[in-house]
Amino acid sequence: MKELIYAEEEKEFLDYYKRLKELLKDTVPWNGEADRFQKDQINLLGQFRDHIHRFAKDAYELRNRKSTLEHSKWNTYHNVNCPECKSKLQLKPIGEIKLDDDLMYFQFYCKKCSMNFESDKPNNDDDLVTWYENKLKALNTVGPEGIKVYQFMKMKEGDFKELIRKGEYFKEKVNEGHLASQAQEKSYQAVMNNTTICLEKIKKMVDVHQEGVNVFGIRPKLRSELPYKYSKDEKELMGLLDYLKDLETHQQLNCIIDNEPLKLIFNRLEPIEEELKSYVNEIKISLQSEEVNLNFKWNNKQDISCTICKKTFKLIPLGEMKAPMNHIHFSYYCPDCNVLFVDQMPNNERDKIKFYENSINNHLTTKEDKEKALQLHGTTEEAIEMVKTQLLQLKENHEREMEYDKSMEEFKEEHKETVKKHVGELIVLKHQLMTGSSVVGES
Ligand SMILES: [Zn+2]
Ligand SMILES: [Zn+2]
Repeated sequence: MKELIYAEEEKEFLDYYKRLKELLKDTVPWNGEADRFQKDQINLLGQFRDHIHRFAKDAYELRNRKSTLEHSKWNTYHNVNCPECKSKLQLKPIGEIKLDDDLMYFQFYCKKCSMNFESDKPNNDDDLVTWYENKLKALNTVGPEGIKVYQFMKMKEGDFKELIRKGEYFKEKVNEGHLASQAQEKSYQAVMNNTTICLEKIKKMVDVHQEGVNVFGIRPKLRSELPYKYSKDEKELMGLLDYLKDLETHQQLNCIIDNEPLKLIFNRLEPIEEELKSYVNEIKISLQSEEVNLNFKWNNKQDISCTICKKTFKLIPLGEMKAPMNHIHFSYYCPDCNVLFVDQMPNNERDKIKFYENSINNHLTTKEDKEKALQLHGTTEEAIEMVKTQLLQLKENHEREMEYDKSMEEFKEEHKETVKKHVGELIVLKHQLMTGSSVVGES
């Protein structure tokens, strides 16, 4: 079977569809809305993919029809007679030429006479229709003898009528052909336009998702449930602790623990071990609290106005989108319009602050701007003051969060240093035990 060949847009669409499927494989949506959204998208785009597959053969033929026609036009042999030497020849056209009647004819070349001559009839259907019409018109004109040309040529009335019928029939056929190919071309264009639209859509969704915007409302793996990843230093510290603890157990078994310096060494082990354990626990707790926030973010019903019908609903987000200002917003389904829309307000504090600052700074700096804005949005002075208050609150919140993040970073850095210090300390102790084996031996 001949392999189907796709247009560039179709190839790209199929590629993105595959990526989307891969992206959503084994994912858990945050909520039922996100789940429905994912399934709807996959379903819709999947239907379109099937359409492209079914359409591909026809489209391929249509895409190639013009070039095939062009190819056969110049590679078909015609039975022609040279008007000069009267030889019967089988020739491929060497070109085409528009004659005085404004119609296009093939040109042939006779080797014997070394000269070009034209075809008897035009080389395309449209011109052939005109050629017939011209010919019939000429036959039907009244000649100088007062009779029509076809009568003068002794053509029977019936034959002339038959000639007219043939001309009409040919014209009809040509028209039908035009209409059929127009319809084909139209449906081809419609699918190609649809491909472009679907491609734009899927491209934006997948690319933006890969940038980190949670377009599909996917819940990531809970990091708090994953085993803690120990750093290289932490691993070394645990190795040292294990080694020294083993040694301690061994010493206890041999009842030689009475050695005072040795006791001091072993007493250091427990607090170090506890410190590491409590750090790992702290990290887990901070991850859990982050997850509680995320869970709230994705499962909290909000009063949201649909940007299309302007009605307000209690809605749960189905994903995030990047809006023109590059801020990230929640997207929702309007239950009335049954379409996806993006919330006007960004869904995170950083973007919200920028949003408020923009609306305050950019539009309300001069008195005129302020009045214009008041008229435009039907807002009041109080409303603007409220926005300012909200902005202040947001900023305070944001600062608190930043401070928390900063303190977490410091906490982690501090821990890193402590681990390094402990590793150093334990290496020295281990070294003392190894080289000072006399201490152990003496007891
Ligand atoms: Zn010739
Ligand atoms: Zn709506």
